[in-house]
Amino acid sequence: MALIVQKYGGSSVGSLDRIRNVATRITRLRDEGNQVVAVVSAMGGVTDKLIGMANELNETPPERELDVLLSSGEQQSIALLATALQGMGVDAVSATGRQAGIVTSGSHTRGRIENIDPSMLQGYLAEGKVIIVAGFQGVTQTGLIHTLGRGGSDLTAIAVAASLKADLCQILTDVDGVYTCDPRVVKNARKLPEISYDEMLEMASSGSKVMQSRSVEFAKKYGVVFEVCSSLNNNPGTLVTEEHPAMEAVVIRGVSIERSQARVTITDIPDRPGNSAKILGALADAEINVDMIVSNIASDGMARHSFTMHTNDLGRAQAALKPVLGELSPDAQIETEAGLAKLSTVGIGMRSHSGVAAKMFKALGEADINIGMISTSEIKISVTVDETAIEDAARVVHEVFELDKKPA
Ligand code: ADP
Ligand code: ASP
Ligand code: MG
Repeated sequence: MALIVQKYGGSSVGSLDRIRNVATRITRLRDEGNQVVAVVSAMGGVTDKLIGMANELNETPPERELDVLLSSGEQQSIALLATALQGMGVDAVSATGRQAGIVTSGSHTRGRIENIDPSMLQGYLAEGKVIIVAGFQGVTQTGLIHTLGRGGSDLTAIAVAASLKADLCQILTDVDGVYTCDPRVVKNARKLPEISYDEMLEMASSGSKVMQSRSVEFAKKYGVVFEVCSSLNNNPGTLVTEEHPAMEAVVIRGVSIERSQARVTITDIPDRPGNSAKILGALADAEINVDMIVSNIASDGMARHSFTMHTNDLGRAQAALKPVLGELSPDAQIETEAGLAKLSTVGIGMRSHSGVAAKMFKALGEADINIGMISTSEIKISVTVDETAIEDAARVVHEVFELDKKPA
């Protein structure tokens, strides 16, 4: 008998038929003699709809109330799935974040899982019940409801699997694994049999939303090996696991894209210690997530700093930087550009292979795609391009690294 934690995302429970399909899959697993804990998301589109309703009533909805509102989406789907299972004769019970013992810290809408008290879940398992846990939510020590950031049901599933020491953790979604690029963008993207935590983390944090990046970080920290697979078929999925030496033979594992990016550049600032800290400090105080950062010194000795962020944060960034500009220099200027997207190539093989950036930039140049900012890490190269060119750029880079072909 194995203890299996599964996570079903929004599209997998997006209609009553889909909920019946999930109930059938869970019943089959249970009938094979397994203990099953299923973490579920809100029905597809429900979270967005609830956010839209809150925004209609108030331009800046209070985050405490947003958490109360958004967590209701997952509560609907756990109750519906447990109801479907009971209708099929399965002894199933739903559990909210609080009932599952998920204790959070941090801020509203971005809660962090502090710890899990699995006693209630263990009690239900001991009674032979199938448990349906609400993803994306937890409760603080003082009883406030938190949600865990968009895509946060992935994190719930990984954390529940770690806390129950599950034998298997599966993330079931509307694709049958992690592909070399989003298959909606690159039609000949190839399903990967396995990917290392670090590569999955870099892909997730650079736009491959098949996994929430914080959930991958958590899985790496607690050594939770998990499989991404389809809720609609039984094809083998992708194993996300610790890296092993053979993985380095592949230079590029995958390509990610992220749309709706904007650039802010501050020019004509004296090249003096502390200035970068003032700029980034103002953005941090305004809780703006800065992504790529590029700084350089112009020929006149003045510094310029550029950084990217989500387009939605551009207005707030400008407002946060205005008061700082005067402190930096009377000549300091701010420039902004929206309509950008980010393209990233990821692979642990980059550590031991050179020439990757040159090959990527040459292919983009030959396709007449202009590169804006560039940033690199040990296993990732990211560039910005015009948002209108991003899909072509992804296809060009996918092609030049022959990611559609199985590596020899
Ligand atoms: P769920 O509702 O199950 O959480 P998501 O919509 O969050 O599902 O994630 C699945 C989607 O992620 C897929 O439909 C796919 O379009 C997208 N995606 C982006 N990058 C990748 C990738 N590299 N491999 C697979 N899917 C990807
Ligand atoms: N329902 C939440 C969202 O849409 C959490 C999730 O689906 O994982 O972001
Ligand atoms: Mg998701």
